[in-house]
Amino acid sequence: MSPYDVSWPHDRPEAPPFGRLTDGFGRRIGYLRVSVTDRCDLRCVYCMSEHMRFLPKAEVLTVDELDRLCGVFIGLGTRKLRLTGGEPLVRKGFMELVERLSRHLETGALDELTLTTNGTRLAEHAADLARLGVRRVNVSLDTLDPSTFRRLTRGGDIAQVMAGLDAAAAAGLKVKINTVALARDNRAEIPELMTFAHARGFDLVLIETMPMGEIDEDRTDQFLSLRDVRQDLAAAWTLTWLSDTTLGPARYSRVEETGGRIGFITPLSHTFCDTCNRVRLTCTGTLHTCLGRDDATDLRSLLRASADDAPVREAIRAAIAAKPLAHDFRIGVGEGPAVRRHMSTTGG
Ligand code: SAM
Ligand code: SF4
Repeated sequence: MSPYDVSWPHDRPEAPPFGRLTDGFGRRIGYLRVSVTDRCDLRCVYCMSEHMRFLPKAEVLTVDELDRLCGVFIGLGTRKLRLTGGEPLVRKGFMELVERLSRHLETGALDELTLTTNGTRLAEHAADLARLGVRRVNVSLDTLDPSTFRRLTRGGDIAQVMAGLDAAAAAGLKVKINTVALARDNRAEIPELMTFAHARGFDLVLIETMPMGEIDEDRTDQFLSLRDVRQDLAAAWTLTWLSDTTLGPARYSRVEETGGRIGFITPLSHTFCDTCNRVRLTCTGTLHTCLGRDDATDLRSLLRASADDAPVREAIRAAIAAKPLAHDFRIGVGEGPAVRRHMSTTGG
């Protein structure tokens, strides 16, 4: 393929068997993302409004409840668990939860336990995460410029994230940097973010902004199509599509000059629903089987009603059987958020 060929690969390799639960369209669901808190120490402009109202503690699952619920999913065949938020590392008891969940890695019931973090507290925890069996982390970083970082996160200190990245690398964790592509704020910086990541052996994954939850800004004017970004990059670098074996929503290219990989997650310009293998659990115990739809199953009340896991199991089975075929994201002038909940509630 020519390096200037920016056509998007729509073909997808055959999905290997993954997870025992199957939805109504024959997709195997083996991946659970759990938001362990809606709280965060940052306020990224595309994610949260400046004055977010957070959930009362009583509504949020305890560490015991999170552990129990994850155990039920694992019993049903979940093979991969990603902990996210909000910011997972600000959640009280988070490392205890990781420690408890790591028993499923030891028994072989779980293939992977991982997290998505903003990195501000990673320096403190990277070594313990590695000790507990975490092998990979996704760290969100949208800019390398300290003042842009402060503005985009409404007050964050990029030095903390840099220290977190160093600690993760020193602990032997594989790092993927997640960058939300923003037309005004980081388009020009994407090559620099890429070389920064690749020089450290990290993947860089670009994400299009998704219309989730009310925020203070209009997302429309920040929307940047990754098709355009890839075209820009391909004018200066040799990008070769890689066949996707990760089953995630990203399509990867190798950058020949750096030897690194760059991923593109394009929920709006391309559909990634046909091989979707994941469901999401909020910190209040609500199961969402599609990121871009408002479908919801309350598992917390079942969990709190009885020590018996059977009703929870049945509710999970029923929700997965009814998983929608595709999301309904659109971004355009005058379009409100496609779903009312914020990414920080659902877990990105
Ligand atoms: N706080 C952690 C972090 O920032 O990595 C984990 C939670 S955060 C909600 C997970 C990911 O969602 C981040 O990479 C963030 O950039 C992304 N995200 C948040 N709001 C988004 C939106 N509206 N569109 C696209 N990505 C979004
Ligand atoms: Fe917090 Fe992550 Fe949302 Fe930023 S993207 S406000 S770090 S939850």
